[in-house]
Amino acid sequence: MNEHAVVIAGGGPTGLMLAGELALAGVDVAIVERRPTQDLPGSRAGGLHSRTIEVLDQRGIAERFLAEGQVAQVAGFAFNRLDLSDFPTRHPYGLGLWQKHIERILAGWVDELPVTVYRGREVTGFAHDDTGVDLALSDGESLRAGYLVGCDGGRSVIRKAAGIDFPGWDPTTSALLAEVEVTEEPELGIRQDDLGTHSFGRVEYEIRDGEVVYADEGPVGSW
Ligand SMILES: Cc1cc2nc3c(=O)[nH]c(=O)nc-3n(C[C@H](O)[C@H](O)[C@H](O)COP(=O)(O)OP(=O)(O)OC[C@H]3O[C@@H](n4cnc5c(N)ncnc54)[C@H](O)[C@@H]3O)c2cc1C
Repeated sequence: MNEHAVVIAGGGPTGLMLAGELALAGVDVAIVERRPTQDLPGSRAGGLHSRTIEVLDQRGIAERFLAEGQVAQVAGFAFNRLDLSDFPTRHPYGLGLWQKHIERILAGWVDELPVTVYRGREVTGFAHDDTGVDLALSDGESLRAGYLVGCDGGRSVIRKAAGIDFPGWDPTTSALLAEVEVTEEPELGIRQDDLGTHSFGRVEYEIRDGEVVYADEGPVGSW
């Protein structure tokens, strides 16, 4: 049975970042990720805020993201854009970059570090004792860890199995997110009507003079 000081269940952005941090601190860390590759079926989150870019800069990897994304003033509150350009930071802006690219770049960084990645298998259960945790994997193998960290998403199996509650309030707003091919172009941009708020845009876009200019063709997303 393989043994690690820390095993992280889930190799999404949280798991990748934690694995990188622990590896840099000299900790023997492994990720168990059920996806066979880092690919995501959709674009997901649209980019990074200033503070996140600062943290990536502290690790010396901000340039990798900046090179692939588009810098813009993205912070906002209640449909009002907040301009950070005179804030005392090396990165007084956000970055437009889809999560599928953010994860690919983060995974590339983790690949350069001493992190073991068990791909294409899930953590299906665990039992802990005084000195650590035994993990059961979906391929029938097991792992031993000093610590197990649940970075396995909002419906975390690890959290539920550990009996950790997910306190909060019932939602007051619901949202539909989709990326689709359409035969007719919908009205792009953000608008409100009796049904709610609609935000349509093409997945491919450019930021010109601080404004989003959508591509003429390609999938349309509703975020
Ligand atoms: C359609 C969509 C649009 C979004 N848009 C935005 C946005 O605009 N802005 C924003 O900030 N956020 C957005 N999000 C949310 C954002 O994607 C998440 O907050 C982020 O991915 C959370 O990262 P994470 O690593 O904690 O979890 P996840 O990304 O959920 O990663 C969890 C990982 O754990 C793996 N896993 C799960 N269970 C197991 C298991 N038992 N064993 C092993 N591996 C397991 C999964 O395969 C996955 O790779 C969006 C999400 C979706 C789905």
